Amino acid sequence: MPVMVYNTLTRSKQPLEPIEPGKIGMYTCGPTVYNFIHIGNARVFVFFDVVRRYLQYRGYRVRYVQNITDVEDKIIKRANEEGITAAEVAEKYTRYYFEDSDSLGIQRADYHPRATDLIPEMISYIERLIEKGFAYQVDDDVFYEISTFKDYGRLSHQNLEELMQGVRIEVDPRLRHPLDFALWKSAKPGEPSWDSPWGKGRPGWHIECSIMSSKYLGEEFDIHGGGHDLIFPHHENEIAQSCAVTGKGFARIWMHNGYLNISGQKMSKSLGNITLVREMLNVATPEVIRHFLLSAHYRKPIDFTDDSLKESESALQRVYIALEKAERQALLLEKRGRQSEEAVSLESIGARLRADFEEAMDDDFNTPKAIAAFFDMVRSLNKILDEPDAWNCKPEELRSIIDQTRELGTVLGLFQQKASRADTELSDRLLDLLISLRAEARTRKDYQLADSIRSRLTDLGVSLEDTPEGTFWRAKQAV
Ligand SMILES: [Zn+2]
Repeated sequence: MPVMVYNTLTRSKQPLEPIEPGKIGMYTCGPTVYNFIHIGNARVFVFFDVVRRYLQYRGYRVRYVQNITDVEDKIIKRANEEGITAAEVAEKYTRYYFEDSDSLGIQRADYHPRATDLIPEMISYIERLIEKGFAYQVDDDVFYEISTFKDYGRLSHQNLEELMQGVRIEVDPRLRHPLDFALWKSAKPGEPSWDSPWGKGRPGWHIECSIMSSKYLGEEFDIHGGGHDLIFPHHENEIAQSCAVTGKGFARIWMHNGYLNISGQKMSKSLGNITLVREMLNVATPEVIRHFLLSAHYRKPIDFTDDSLKESESALQRVYIALEKAERQALLLEKRGRQSEEAVSLESIGARLRADFEEAMDDDFNTPKAIAAFFDMVRSLNKILDEPDAWNCKPEELRSIIDQTRELGTVLGLFQQKASRADTELSDRLLDLLISLRAEARTRKDYQLADSIRSRLTDLGVSLEDTPEGTFWRAKQAV
């Protein structure tokens, strides 16, 4: 079965057919480094981290590029607010971006180009656009003329009239069409600038991504991703610029994340509900945050509420408790050393987990369904571990389920924690101690104490089982 991917360009799911067999080139729009990243940004970055990991799991060699937009209007504005240079703002927030992204367990891309590293390439590209009649110069600015590109609007599936409705009322009178956009912006005093055939200035945001993607992935590549808000105008303009010059298709598949809302409202400065990743990391583990972000399908909106983190935490806990129970049971079975005649086979549990997981992820990276596969596994596993059947399992099969959970969990960046060995060993020894004290009490015929030990352990969720081989314990919860 091929991986099916929803393409914004065709508005349908299509099989992933790489340009070069076995290899995937993928580009996502990275942060504009003028502030800390918020949880909405993190949704996009975590999701594409998972896409990359899954494609690697599927055996593809993925070349992943995520840019850093380090020269842009917002950065200049921030520099003026903070009284430092734009370069200093960019430097500072690039560092913070990597700190936050690393904290969330997002693997670094193969390349993180910075826009300011590729200014000469951008300039020569703009020259080609002018030469070919797709761009025009007014004063010291250069604009892209969208009416020269007949497919303009193909990604947002809107015609020019419809797209016009989103345009602000104030339009630069120098534009030939209100939707024309800047390829090169002349420098105002105090702004960062580079020399160009049109005087001192800087590139527009859209041209930056066209250059940074094709530099590392070629003029045509497999996947371009980003947040839903980037479809128009950013990605539409990237397509117009790139296809105009090369005559090629640019990115084949366009993937876009849905919005993240806070208690049903859009995150915005005016509502004061912008939630930074940094703040969230103070109250939740990275794994809990990842679980929350992956708990909705990436194309659908996701709502962050007061309960979101608690829910994710208890969901993860359920899996960990089951894994720990399985681990203990495997240990006990090994200690007991006798294999039951009528062994219960657990193979189907592991096989189903893998099959369900792959089916979900193959279907346009359906992470909520993939996560649900782990909970189905937990239910099946608990059903066995909570019953006398637990004694008829094969320890190696229990271990195999644990290993598969961890292996598939790596794709999502979940279920990688291990219980501290020291803790586990100590609680094991303490329980063994109580069991031997109870045995001594029974030998002394002090049944009152023996029963008390047993019932108080039951209160703690630990049940004892007396067998001819000795007394064994099982815990309902992680201990
Ligand atoms: Zn971009």
